[in-house]
Amino acid sequence: MEQERKYWEPEIETMPADKLRKLQEERLQEIVAYAYERTKFYRRKYDEAGVKPSDINTLDDLAKLPLIEDSEIRHAPMEDKLSVPWEEVYQCCSSSGTTGFPEPLALTKNDFQIACLDSVARLAWTIGIRPSDRVQLTMGLPCLSQMPPLIGANTMGEQAGRGNLDNQVVLGNMMHVTVLLGMPSIALTYFERAKELGVDIKESDLRLILGVGEGLAESYKNKAKDEYGPVFRDYYGASTFGEVASECDFGGGMHICADRVILEVIDPKTKQLLGLGEEGELVGTNLVRRAIPRIRIRIEDVAKMLPYEPCPCGRTHPKLSKIRGRMVQLLCVSGKEFFPIDVEEALGGILGLGYEYQIIRDKPEMSRLKIKVEYKPEVKDLAALKNRVEEELSQALGVDSEAELVPKGSIGRAMFKAQRVIAA
Ligand SMILES: [Zn+2]
Repeated sequence: MEQERKYWEPEIETMPADKLRKLQEERLQEIVAYAYERTKFYRRKYDEAGVKPSDINTLDDLAKLPLIEDSEIRHAPMEDKLSVPWEEVYQCCSSSGTTGFPEPLALTKNDFQIACLDSVARLAWTIGIRPSDRVQLTMGLPCLSQMPPLIGANTMGEQAGRGNLDNQVVLGNMMHVTVLLGMPSIALTYFERAKELGVDIKESDLRLILGVGEGLAESYKNKAKDEYGPVFRDYYGASTFGEVASECDFGGGMHICADRVILEVIDPKTKQLLGLGEEGELVGTNLVRRAIPRIRIRIEDVAKMLPYEPCPCGRTHPKLSKIRGRMVQLLCVSGKEFFPIDVEEALGGILGLGYEYQIIRDKPEMSRLKIKVEYKPEVKDLAALKNRVEEELSQALGVDSEAELVPKGSIGRAMFKAQRVIAA
């Protein structure tokens, strides 16, 4: 019966758009007033901007509130941003520190229940995990490791195999795992090792890869699906901000937990708000996190909010496009800007290449794109493959490139986020 349940929180997930907007507005007014009254940080920011909580009534008023740089709130003293006495802090954690020293984070019990657990469960259900699933974690993911038991599925933690990928592959196969949860690049390495160890992923029960923490090009997802079988689906969350969105069976972007999170998109240079379908930097407001309120924080991830259309799954919450990258990953080659994932998108369609590649950044602004990419052992004509790679990159990105083809296994496999750009 539970297995057949369509939604995790039916009433909220299928709420009519106007009702959802009203709920967002009520929660926005509440959190803005709360942050202003309870923290020096927001009081100072709003006083400086000449805005009062009573000025915030509708979603359009959100733009009256100042944008907050990630580094600004990260470096603010705890006593300026913590809204509750320490005895009400239930959990302390930190950001992953991808773009600087990690930010210490605090959650009340309610924050942890609603912003973490409830959202994780809803997003897992949306993405298609069910109680009959066996979910294997390829790495330690504090909040996400709670995902499978929350919805009644089985978990095989990263401690099974003690973080040794070969052991994880074999144990996963013996336990008939159906879902892998972790970085998509690690899933690719998992597949590769399985092949070398004689484990046939295509014949196994593994059906779904829930990718977190980094993006994977669509061409890579298709290539891996053809070669190994499982489908990749996107999940988006950020430790500083909360659990945000995941893809449903119908794809076409990720449904946002819009009753808990509001996302805006800005032009990162002018800081002007962009419209639906326009790509830019995400700005997030968490409507339910209280210990350290997060209101209009620049998240530094690049994506777009998709124009609203009813989803065949019946969920009414708006969709976010896939994340193209982080602002710090933006590459500039002879005046053209793009992300590593755009390079990956072009490489994924070329026969004869493996999955691993590296972009060599020898200076901040390069005149040509330099990449190293692995080829498959069966390739005979390396010169032709090299030409093909350079042509595809020039067509896709409009820049000259220099590709170095290296045998499979030459590029180190990451056990956390893949390092796609390295300094020469
Ligand atoms: Zn849907």
